[in-house]
Amino acid sequence: DQVSETDRALIARRERLLGPAYRLFYANPVHFVRGEGVWLYDPDGNAYLDVYNNVASVGHCHPHVVAALARQSAILNTHTRYITDGILDYAERLLATFPAAIGNVMFTCTGSEANDLAYRAARAFTGGTGFIVTSLAYHGVTVAISEMSPSLGSGITLGPNIRTVPAPDLYRSGGADVGETLAAHVRGAIADMALHGIKPAALLVDTIFSSDGVFADPAGFLKPAAAAIREAGGLFIADEVQPGFGRTGEGMWGFARHGLVPDMVTMGKPMGNGHPVAGMAARPDILESFGRTTRYFNTFGGNPVSCAVGMAVLDVIESENLIANAKAVGRHMLEGLRMLAERHELIGDVRGTGLFIGVELVTDRLTRAPATDATSNLVNGLREKRILISAAGPHANVLKIRPPLVFSRDNADLFLTAMDDVLGAIAHRR
Ligand code: PMP
Repeated sequence: DQVSETDRALIARRERLLGPAYRLFYANPVHFVRGEGVWLYDPDGNAYLDVYNNVASVGHCHPHVVAALARQSAILNTHTRYITDGILDYAERLLATFPAAIGNVMFTCTGSEANDLAYRAARAFTGGTGFIVTSLAYHGVTVAISEMSPSLGSGITLGPNIRTVPAPDLYRSGGADVGETLAAHVRGAIADMALHGIKPAALLVDTIFSSDGVFADPAGFLKPAAAAIREAGGLFIADEVQPGFGRTGEGMWGFARHGLVPDMVTMGKPMGNGHPVAGMAARPDILESFGRTTRYFNTFGGNPVSCAVGMAVLDVIESENLIANAKAVGRHMLEGLRMLAERHELIGDVRGTGLFIGVELVTDRLTRAPATDATSNLVNGLREKRILISAAGPHANVLKIRPPLVFSRDNADLFLTAMDDVLGAIAHRR
């Protein structure tokens, strides 16, 4: 293998210091020392095109965000038990991006905490304990949330109050209406809960189904499932940690494409462009019972520096027209990938919206058998061309394409050319 002596020593040091739970990407892991825009740099100054990082959404180390962070750190940083202005200005601006029914927002540091808070509030409001998630969902690291994150693998036992439903996979739907199918599975899960004496609290979904394999179409497919959980007295919680903040190219939030208003929304990752800022927005009446009876204090959540950073991220999304850019460059990317599909048999499906795109690789277009090994070869082959990408889905055969939203057409073309080359080399080797 090609791992250098220096990197081998660093990897050994990581294992010695950090223990065995961490994972590195790639057969030949990458070492970074600096980031700027869509680029990451290794110690030798080589530039890597970032086609994967949906956290540094407005671009790595964006100067406006860095300046806001530095400025506020030099003025005041404290917690939410004093009156400060920044949190109110930020809450107002953030809430203005939601439908009017979503009237409160609470701040955390991670998406996991945001989901954990939504979990607690949903239980308090409904009096139920049952949660429904998709079969390969990821929602976070706390005990409660990891027990509803089946994508974590065999080490995780789902909670007895959790039911899973298959993700709405249009590619493998055989022509069925994926929205109605999802709703039918949700009703089935609710019926099974009833058999076990469990009252439903909520349906929690990532509105772009990132870890399930990226499912965006047809827009609107979430509506029947949301109606089904509400009929049973449960809530619909949109996990916007991945699709949120403009990535889908159609407004700020992934749920908007589905023409529905969630009861609660969780957000994180791109919210602080790399600084740990996350939150949960909800209908005020839902937070009423939880908030009146329970004190919520998150030491770092909603601090003045985090709020300044969050505000600066919103500035950049607006001033650089990043939602429109996600839409235009996303469309260019989809078109380019569909052209590649005409030349490369391995590409079974190209799907997504804005700058959240999935490319499913198959060994046979008729049987749609997953091309897991070829996907891994493609991901590693692109890494050797200094292009960063990864894969998801039940068979790790769906490329996840979600670059910073400042990604340009030229960046997309560079990526497409590299894809073309590596796919060609893989086909040649087979
Ligand atoms: N929800 C989704 C959909 C996520 O992808 C993630 C992170 N991968 C989380 C929640 C948890 O966020 P965090 O890692 O910030 O706790």
